Amino acid sequence: MPAGVQVGPTYYTIHCDELALLALRGLLGQAHEREQSIEIDPHQGPDMLAETLFHEVLHCVLFPVGLDDHVDEKVVRVICSSLFDTMRRNPALMEALLK
Ligand SMILES: [Zn+2]
Repeated sequence: MPAGVQVGPTYYTIHCDELALLALRGLLGQAHEREQSIEIDPHQGPDMLAETLFHEVLHCVLFPVGLDDHVDEKVVRVICSSLFDTMRRNPALMEALLK
């Protein structure tokens, strides 16, 4: 798990530990724009953990747009699974994009 992620001009610290778990109150993950932090439930399998982190990073991408929270969640859910799956199944594409 990385210590943080830079999204545009904002650096988000990633917390994936028991303290984060307490703050999540049943959620798998949560991103906080104002606090510049992402909390992830550490008790997930590796695929769920990665997808949850990606989901929260997408929330961070959308924060500057300032959509309604419910719209935000729908957009993130629609994009997250298919984009994440595409990225994982196409390492050559990712390599080409990240050059
Ligand atoms: Zn969400």
